[in-house]
Parts: sequence; structure tokens; C-alpha cells
Amino acid sequence: APVHLRAILEGSRGRDGAAALVYGDERMSHADYFRTAAVFARRLVDDYGVAKGDRVAIAMRNHPEWVVAFFAAAGIGAIVVPLNSWWTGAELEFGLTDSGAKVLVADSERIERLAGVPERLGVAVVAVRAPGPLPAGARAWPDVLGEVPGDADLPPADLAPDDPATMFYTSGTTGVPKGALGSHRNMIANILAGSYARHRALMRLGLELPEVRALLDALPPSVVLCVLPLFHATGAQTVMLPTLAAGGTLVLMYRWDIEEALRAVERERVTAITAVPAMISQMLSSPRLAEHDLSSLLTLGSGGAPAPPALVGRARARLHELMLGQGYGMTECSATATINGGRDYLLRPDSAGLPVATVDVKVVDPAGAELPPGEVGEVWIRGPGVVLGYWGRPEATAETFTDGWLHTGDLGRLDDEGFVYIVDRAKDMIIRGGENVYCAEVEAAIHEHPAVGEVAVVGVPHEVWGEEVGAVVHPIPGHTLAEADLRGHLDGRLAPFKVPAHIRIVDRDLPRNAAGKLLKRRVKAEHGWDAG
Ligand code: AMP
Ligand code: MG
Repeated sequence: APVHLRAILEGSRGRDGAAALVYGDERMSHADYFRTAAVFARRLVDDYGVAKGDRVAIAMRNHPEWVVAFFAAAGIGAIVVPLNSWWTGAELEFGLTDSGAKVLVADSERIERLAGVPERLGVAVVAVRAPGPLPAGARAWPDVLGEVPGDADLPPADLAPDDPATMFYTSGTTGVPKGALGSHRNMIANILAGSYARHRALMRLGLELPEVRALLDALPPSVVLCVLPLFHATGAQTVMLPTLAAGGTLVLMYRWDIEEALRAVERERVTAITAVPAMISQMLSSPRLAEHDLSSLLTLGSGGAPAPPALVGRARARLHELMLGQGYGMTECSATATINGGRDYLLRPDSAGLPVATVDVKVVDPAGAELPPGEVGEVWIRGPGVVLGYWGRPEATAETFTDGWLHTGDLGRLDDEGFVYIVDRAKDMIIRGGENVYCAEVEAAIHEHPAVGEVAVVGVPHEVWGEEVGAVVHPIPGHTLAEADLRGHLDGRLAPFKVPAHIRIVDRDLPRNAAGKLLKRRVKAEHGWDAG
């Protein structure tokens, strides 16, 4: 099959049987989804002049239109730019200008938040599920689509595997969001990686390959609950892409809600869920778990943040013990680098697993020299999922990607069998639930307050979210600063998930080493934020 996303979309043409997209009580067959995407692709070309390499931004919740717009744009060779739907108006504006988007497909909340910005930037807006009056120049999704004919077909496009297809925003190490430019090959490689990992997990239970194939072929197409936001690599690349590529059903959730998720599993006979550890943990501890028929569920995958080893025991007690798995990876390698599942995970609940078939992993010292098993260093990843680089940032690209190796900024070790253990993060980043927060970005926003002298932003351990954001602020001597005042200052500057849950205002210098570098571990300890 051709190595591009258009081939995946074309796979849905004429496919009957299971729905492609389910959203509340809305259902769309594979054939309808293909036709709708084909028509939208045509509109992008004809009405908006979108050509190969142009950027099409998407800013909305997990609506079916997200998926349709994604495949329509990628299918004609445009670069899809998913924007974080938690972002403030200013952050969304950054995404539009940084990517130089030609078209924005957005829902009403995002359009409201952007308050005229696309107009000012000359970005055409297609408004999704926006009942109210639209800003000048914006057109409503149904009007853009018009009639969807039975024989709708994609406009022609000339696509090569290494053409860029996606630009997911990530912050790397510096705190300024950067677009990770993913190619069609990157996306396809990640789909294959997941499928190989499933084969491997079964083979490691003692089955031979033909038995594994027969077993997997006998399964009905998967029904996957999409609880992760589609604007993140995990949601789009490990949930949306493989499900649709395999002719399965994607059950979209507007937002994370445990009760709603359990009901959806029962109603739609969901076979797989991939979620961040916080969601898995909430599900496993829900008092309602036993009230629902979850017998359809075959896999419960965790990723995007460290999964507490205790999750394995809890899954074992409340669901089938072989169901739980965890993956490790990042936006810059198109989602998945390692997977731990099945019996391997029971035996090594603290491991992120083995590298997927397409990926090499090594652990290196600060000079980049490979370390032997057992020693902790930075984790580097190589493989066909490693993205082309950062959009418009040659220096950051040169620093992060060397000779095909992606420097993850994560600290880990390998064991003698090649299992990967992620033990810490070298990058100054907090993961709250599944959202990454770059300390430097929050520190910069706090610094913009005129009374702030010094600030340290650190992770505060949290039972459900894994970590929360904590800030310790030392005002400029002679200035007073109240927490409420600082919160007012941050409101609108930073997306809510980045705003510190804990703010401590202190009247002493923050701890620094001789070179003046903030000692963040000391800051954490001083405020009792170091206990796991
Ligand atoms: P993102 O680019 O949003 O996918 O974030 C990637 C980062 O999340 C990685 O570099 C890790 O720091 C962290 N991460 C993802 N999965 C895991 C995992 N299974 N264990 C530990 N950290 C993880
Ligand atoms: Mg993440």
C-alpha cells in the first residue's frame, strides 16, 4: 500500500459494516466519512486555494469534523496543524502565526476565544458546530460542504512518503511551542509499530505467528474509545489513525468523564481504550466500575506520562490481568517508541517496555556516548517515526535531532533484555494528567508581572494527575504581591492547565548554586513538594 495518509482515507471508501465515527448518538459509516472528507478536500482546493504544503489548522474538541478535516487536508498534501483546544486566544494566535495557516477549522468556543484574530491575520475560518452569528468571512461547515454526492471523490494529489503531513505542537526544552513536522511515513510507521507490538505481546505468551494471525483475524474490527484529545500525538496517532486504518470504529468523547466513558464502553461494546495514566487510574478506582458490562474490553493502554507500577496490580484486581499495557514515546517520534504489555508488563510493571519493531533505543551519557545496560542516561530514539524536524527552527532541530537520533530529554536505563525504564526527566517539564507544561513558559509569564523578582516553577506530586504546577515567587524587594493579583495576571495569558495550582510567595532569595542556577530540587523540598 502507498505510504501516505490518503491511502488510509481511501481504505474507507465503500467499506460497509461497522461505523467509522461515533459521537454521542451521531454515527457515520466509513463510506460516509470518506465521502465527506473527499468533499471537504475538494472545497479546500477549490474555495480556499489550498495546495500541497499549505497549512490547515484545526482547533476544536473531539468532534467528528476534526477527523474529517484532518484526513481531507492530509489527503491533498496539505500540512495539518492541530491546535490545543485548552489554549487561550493568545496561544491560539501564536499557533496560527507560527504555522502560517491558510485555513482554520474551528468550533464555536475557539472562534470566540480568537475574537477576530483570524480575520486580522487573513486566515479563512470554517466554523464547526457554531450555532451563533459568525465573524465576518467565516463560513459554517455545512455551508462549505454543501451536498455530499454518493460518488464524491478526492481531488488528485501527488504525495510522496516523506512529504510533511502534520505539525503537532510540542514545547521541546525551551518553553516556546514548536511545530513537530511529521511526514506521511512517520504516521504510517507508528501505525505499523502498534500492530507489531500486539503480535509480539501474543507471541511472548507462547503462541506461534500463524496462531497469532488467526487469532487477530478472528476478532471483530476494534471499537476504540477516544478519550484523549485528538490535538495530541497520542490521541491522533495511537488512537485515531490505527483504528480507522484497520476499518474499526472510533468512539469520540467531547471531554473526559469517567461515568460517560464506562457507559460508552458498555453501549458501543468498546474493545480498546488508550488513555493517560490519570484516566486509567480514575477508571480503575471508580466505584461504578462493577456496575457496567465491560466484557468487550480487550486492552487498556496507558501512555503520555509515567504510569505508576501500582496500576498493574489494580487492573489485575478489577479487570483482566493481561489487559493493561503502557507505551512510551513523544510527539517528536510520532507517538510510540516502546510498548510494555501482556505478561511482560505483569513481570516488569516499572518498565516502559521493549522498543517497537521499527525503533532503536539507546541510553547515552552527556557526551552522547552509548552507556551499557543498567546505567542511567538520556534516552535517544531512532526510527521511521522520528519527525522531519521543528517547523521554522533550524537551531532547535539541529540540537534535538543528530544523525537520525532524537534526543528525548528523558532519563532512563535499559536492562539486559533491552527493556526500557524511564526514571526521570532532564527537561524542565511537568506533565499534569496528559498535558505537558514547560516550566520556562510559565516562569516567563509570571515574570511579566512587574512585582516579580524571581520565580521557580516546579512539579508538585499529585495522586490523580501525577503532577500539578507549583510556583514559588520572590517579589522584588519593596514590592508586595498577592496571590490573587498574580492569578489575575496569568488569566488569559496561559491556558488553565498551565496556571500553577500552588503559588507560594516568599520573602527570601530562591536557592541557587554558585553559578546562579536555580536549585529546583531544593525548592521542591523546601515546600514539601518532593514526596512521591
Ligand atoms: P508528548 O510529546 O506530549 O507526547 O510528551 C512526551 C513526553 O512525555 C516524554 O518525553 C516523556 O517525558 C513523557 N512520557 C510519555 N510516555 C511516558 C511513559 N510511558 N513513561 C514516562 N514518561 C512518559
Ligand atoms: Mg503528552
